[in-house]
Amino acid sequence: MCAIVGVINSKEAAKVSYYALFAMQHRGQEATGISACDNDKIKTIKDRGLVTKVFNEGSFEILKGTLAAGHNRYSTAGNDSILDAQPIYARYSLGEISIVHNGNLINKNEVRARLIEDGAIFQSSMDTENVVHLIARSKKEHLRDRIIEALQVIKGAYCFIILSRHKMFVIRDRYGVRPLSIGRLKDGGYIAASETCAFDLVGAEFIRDVNPGEMLTFESGKDEYKAEQLFDTDSRICAFEYIYFARPDSVIEGKNVYEIRKKMGEALAEEWGVPDADYIIPVPDSGVAAALGYAAKSGIPFENGIVRNHYVGRTFIEPTQEMRSQKVKLKLSPIAALLNGKKIVVIDDSIVRGTTSKQIVSILKHAGAKEVHMRIASPAIKHPCRYGIDTPSYQELISANLSEDEVRDYIGADSLKFLSIDSLVKSIGDERKYSLVSFDGNYFIQ
Ligand code: AMP
Repeated sequence: MCAIVGVINSKEAAKVSYYALFAMQHRGQEATGISACDNDKIKTIKDRGLVTKVFNEGSFEILKGTLAAGHNRYSTAGNDSILDAQPIYARYSLGEISIVHNGNLINKNEVRARLIEDGAIFQSSMDTENVVHLIARSKKEHLRDRIIEALQVIKGAYCFIILSRHKMFVIRDRYGVRPLSIGRLKDGGYIAASETCAFDLVGAEFIRDVNPGEMLTFESGKDEYKAEQLFDTDSRICAFEYIYFARPDSVIEGKNVYEIRKKMGEALAEEWGVPDADYIIPVPDSGVAAALGYAAKSGIPFENGIVRNHYVGRTFIEPTQEMRSQKVKLKLSPIAALLNGKKIVVIDDSIVRGTTSKQIVSILKHAGAKEVHMRIASPAIKHPCRYGIDTPSYQELISANLSEDEVRDYIGADSLKFLSIDSLVKSIGDERKYSLVSFDGNYFIQ
């Protein structure tokens, strides 16, 4: 999971990218980077860490120009070394390019092996580097055609922003698995970003989503951009964007994420009510919107029964299981005075490994809760996502290995229920299709 941004024809393109990346920090915290171009030379700054750590005022002395692309990394392919930070910059026969990618390429190993056999030397373990090599090795005369040729070779979920010294290419795969939108900046420039929350921070006006299978080409100094439909579409935005990933204030394909999360909570209350419960309590912050929906539908009072320490990073940042369980305790504390002797419904958006839920039930029971009923505002995750979400293997997914009752016993809850796939789809809107691989195992990109 990552965030990407591209800016063109704006006086301070790198600074706008910086703010956009800051707004999209939730999509990746491992590394960040920006390339900027003054129509002569592309310069790049990237490093491990958060946006506010990697960039300072001095960065923008270097990142000059009206063209920029940026990235926040959350590794789903490759590892978390500095070599795997983006943008990937390269010099090649037509000049210079810089590329940022959100998604995951499923045939990366085959393509990489072929390229290596052909003499390519790789710098990183990222799937994105395949695209750089494919572009560099193409015999086509124009970058546009080289990009299209590369897109014929790769398979998977992708949103790309590719900069040359004078152009910006904005591309979304034919399934549109990851979101990507474009907006207009106040100074007349254009911005492309993974989430619309980036537009709000930089004062850009939303124009439209990039369509699945579409490539938009923006040119320095030109007000018009070119839109080309490269592939037939089979649109399936990832349902997990609505469930967990995207920021609640973002609008994805015309739907506000917060409102959808509330609807999921309402549907959960309809499907799996808990009679005579005293309070609905969210897991902060991921369960808040769904808990509000659940409380509204059930008529049971909503209470913030768990306090979150905001100075601890996301649970998933530390790679080892040992660190993960420690972090949940650092992050969440119950309000004992509220919980003592009460029958509680706890709402979270999802269960992945089961670490969070187990800790939550345990801290609530220690705080004196009489009964803890866990309600999850998404279906059980039974399959790893191969399209860009960090749910890596079957072994680690608790619901892939244990039945619902076994998971309930493992987390120590008095009851456990998940939203059905049907209700999930109805909550987002059943007029279109979604990527639901984590729930139904339908790997539609083969
Ligand atoms: P777990 O503790 O492994 O069961 O993970 C579930 C918790 O992590 C929930 O509170 C979710 O909000 C959050 N979560 C779900 N999916 C992800 C993900 N791919 N990356 C980071 N956090 C996640």
